[in-house]
Amino acid sequence: MGRAFVYVIIGGGVAAGYAALEFTKKGVSPGELCIISDETVAPYERPALSKGFLLPEAPARLPGFHTCVGANEEKLTPNWYKDHGIELILGTRVESADVRRKTLLTTVGETIAYKFLIIATGARARTLEEIGITGSDAENVCYLRDLADATKLVNMMGKCTGGKAMVIGGGYIGMECAAALVINKIHVSMVFPGTYCMGRLFTPKIASYYEDFYKSKGVNFIKGTALSSFMFNSTRKVTGAFLKDGRYLPVDMVVVGIGACPNTSLFKDQLKFENGGIQVNSRFQSSNTSVYAVGDVASFPVKLFGDTRRLEHVDLARKSAKHAVSAIMEPRNTSDFDYLPFFYSRVFSLSWQFYGDNVGEVIHFGDFSGTKFGGYWVNEGRLVGCFLEGGGNEEYEAIAKAIRLKPVVKDLSKLQRDGVDFVNEV
Ligand code: FAD
Ligand code: NDP
Repeated sequence: MGRAFVYVIIGGGVAAGYAALEFTKKGVSPGELCIISDETVAPYERPALSKGFLLPEAPARLPGFHTCVGANEEKLTPNWYKDHGIELILGTRVESADVRRKTLLTTVGETIAYKFLIIATGARARTLEEIGITGSDAENVCYLRDLADATKLVNMMGKCTGGKAMVIGGGYIGMECAAALVINKIHVSMVFPGTYCMGRLFTPKIASYYEDFYKSKGVNFIKGTALSSFMFNSTRKVTGAFLKDGRYLPVDMVVVGIGACPNTSLFKDQLKFENGGIQVNSRFQSSNTSVYAVGDVASFPVKLFGDTRRLEHVDLARKSAKHAVSAIMEPRNTSDFDYLPFFYSRVFSLSWQFYGDNVGEVIHFGDFSGTKFGGYWVNEGRLVGCFLEGGGNEEYEAIAKAIRLKPVVKDLSKLQRDGVDFVNEV
């Protein structure tokens, strides 16, 4: 049993949704495009899962956050795919791929042939078992990657009001879920091995602002140690956690956010890999010319910094998807991808954005006892990155524009004196 399409996308997440919209803009014909996703719902804006979806009042729910509402574009409901003749195969996993034959095999035994393939399989949550701890199967241990995880987390929070949660990991998931747990009136302890939260991006000074803010909301930070094992009751519910430093924490629920692993195993030994992802050129084309990779799985050239990176953020997923579709459908009119890395988060009343690269010397600016502050990164005499908490749209736009130019900075103290106004003069 089999079907053939001109274009096939594996994965039905953020990149798939933005790619679908771009295909229709470029004039795909009905019956030419197919999306295969192991999720049971049409592509949606994944960032909503750790923000609006977890709110106790007026929470975000589908169909409200299908792609592409996050970029203020059309909302692609299941009917939209039908109306555009796009085959949306949901609840179906691609089990194997053969890039030489240009075929995919799904879990229901169907072979799907393609002329062009876009890999948009994203990432999965790293599990406790991968760091040597058992317990992921317990009913009160939650991860957060997809709608099913988010639904389990919401149900668990509903049962634990007034109780105690342990958040394992102090990265994006840890910080955003800790805030949501507090808002749901649950006491939170956060455990992570580093000396400060968000170690991949924040400086100690920036991290201490957020940690103080979280502490003011009652969050207990347990840093420099890790989970050793869980205590279970007779129904295999976690009731407590032993830490490597010997401490014991009684818990009602656990949220795990210890990193993500790109879903690339289908293509092992078939495509070239780099930075833990699928190596692509500046048109998101892999080492096989019929296969493109976008979003979390793609390791792509970042022209601005002269290297290649794999980024696990939504802005890249959206833009890489559009670019790949353009490269496939209008190769002559598609220039090389020229990306400015952009990350953001929103928790409680706080909101930050980061543009560029966090390497080199850091110059902090603004009011760290107030609501607006940030940091500049200067590498080899040039301004390469900027973080700003509490900025306005115009300021973030000016930062993005300035960082793209990588201006030479002669006087570092001017960055501190001028603060965010510095970028207006670039
Ligand atoms: P995904 O959106 O993960 O989609 C991958 C899809 O492929 C999924 O539907 C998956 O089920 C499917 N799939 C995988 N393997 C197969 C297979 N073999 N067969 C069929 N289907 C398959 N980034 C930000 O910049 N800002 C944020 O605020 C933010 N918040 C986030 C909140 C959460 C809870 C999470 C988990 C991530 C967040 N991110 C955020 C990161 C951002 O969502 C990802 O970078 C983005 O979703 C990547 O898009 P993608 O399409 O590559 O992968
Ligand atoms: P991150 O990589 O952001 O953070 C992982 C965290 O796990 C770090 O704090 C790390 O600590 C900690 N850690 C590592 N090993 C252990 C351990 N043995 N015990 C306890 N903690 C450990 O990954 P997340 O899981 O937070 O996020 C998953 C994905 O979701 C990422 O792709 C992320 O980009 C994405 N996401 C993005 C958001 C955004 O952009 N706003 C929001 C939500 C998710 P340390 O640093 O101290 O080693």
